[in-house]
Amino acid sequence: MNRFAALHREIAQCRACPRLVSWREQIGEEKRRAYRDWKYWARPVPGFGDPRASLAIVGLAPGAHGANRTGRMFTGDSSGKFLYAGLFRAGFANQASSEQRGDGLELRGAYIVAALRCVPPDNRPMPDELNRCDRLGCKHPIPGQTGSGDPSSSTFVRPRNRAFAAAGTGGARLLPR
Ligand code: SF4
Repeated sequence: MNRFAALHREIAQCRACPRLVSWREQIGEEKRRAYRDWKYWARPVPGFGDPRASLAIVGLAPGAHGANRTGRMFTGDSSGKFLYAGLFRAGFANQASSEQRGDGLELRGAYIVAALRCVPPDNRPMPDELNRCDRLGCKHPIPGQTGSGDPSSSTFVRPRNRAFAAAGTGGARLLPR
């Protein structure tokens, strides 16, 4: 397992925020009727995409019945339909749809991450939760445009969560060169 995969695995096991752990698991138990046959992910959602990305797309948090169900950001919800169709048209994705992990989707030059990796009640994180996940982000860098592909490299930058959270779910920005 490479270091990037190891970090994803570590994040997916995080239980540092009791309110969010309870909420994400409650959603996974109750489910939406349309997804009653699904086994919800109901864990923190790691980043997804190209470790050598020049484009970072930062959402606020996983969707309750989207990423919290599928385990991949903007996957299985309406935001994802819009986002991935656009990434495909722009040449960043190899397909226009994103319905579930293992569907063959690959990103080229783009990386998607959430400022808060667990779904919050009413889509409203508490400041201490954002701060805690920001500290987790210190160990979970997102690629900078000059990244070497090695997540231990100093050319990777960590998420600046407050600023990204202010951009809202689906906010996208190019990192400065
Ligand atoms: S929000 Fe972040 S710090 Fe809190 S439990 Fe989820 S992954 Fe861990």
